[in-house]
Amino acid sequence: MIGAWCFLDHFLPAVEVEGMQVAAHPHTGLQTVTWLFSGVVHHNDSLGSSQLVKPGQLNLMTAGRGISHSEVSLESNEILHGIQLWVALPDKYRNIAPSFNHYQDLPQLNFEGVKINLLTGQLLTERAPTQAYSPLFAAQLDFSHDAEIELPLDKQFEYGFLAVDIDLFVDDQEIEVGAMLYQPPGEEKVTLKIGSAGTLIIIGGEPFTEEIVMWWNFIGRNHEEVTEMRSEWQEGSEKFGTVADEIGGRIPAPPMPNIRLQPRGSKRKRLG
Ligand code: MN
Repeated sequence: MIGAWCFLDHFLPAVEVEGMQVAAHPHTGLQTVTWLFSGVVHHNDSLGSSQLVKPGQLNLMTAGRGISHSEVSLESNEILHGIQLWVALPDKYRNIAPSFNHYQDLPQLNFEGVKINLLTGQLLTERAPTQAYSPLFAAQLDFSHDAEIELPLDKQFEYGFLAVDIDLFVDDQEIEVGAMLYQPPGEEKVTLKIGSAGTLIIIGGEPFTEEIVMWWNFIGRNHEEVTEMRSEWQEGSEKFGTVADEIGGRIPAPPMPNIRLQPRGSKRKRLG
């Protein structure tokens, strides 16, 4: 984990494919953040939300005690390229009512010639309106040419630096395309160096001190709780509602593994 960020899916097709089509499936105890670099995704959920998300916009789904949704990429001249992140909800908030937010306009900054889109949290004078339940940060940095910048950090936060489409250096440590560098708390600034135009995602947050059990699309606190969530989805519990979409159907949960699910937490120190 990096702060409450507990999952990051960086998706793009390697070859020409049919696109993304994910039928209705449940979530609990987390928020999903969908952010695209190119392409279009159509989100439908059990609250009745039906929302397109395009580059520069952010879809935020707060599962709370339970929600279901489907995701489909639409035909576009551009390939589908983006990230979906999951945020673990602290115990105090993990059973709140589900909700969905679409952010059409998020703060943009120009920092020493680098274009920054602030997805969540605060940077310099800007604060994103994105609803968060723990101290979090996420931003996209677009370099239009080779550059070296020094960006302020929050000393309380740990960070992850994702090289989206180009190799880059974080405090002189090289990150290859597609990799993420983990940085523990305690730093007040970071030097980012890039050899040509390219994009970088930074995520951060205060270390999440609660232990979580994450399995399939659920986040609970122990094995029994996740087993119960799975049963509720399989049995069509009302807590997940129904999704009206063009795909139809729903994704059944995989069988539980024949081991006891173990918690993960802030102990894991490195990703990627
Ligand atoms: Mn999902």
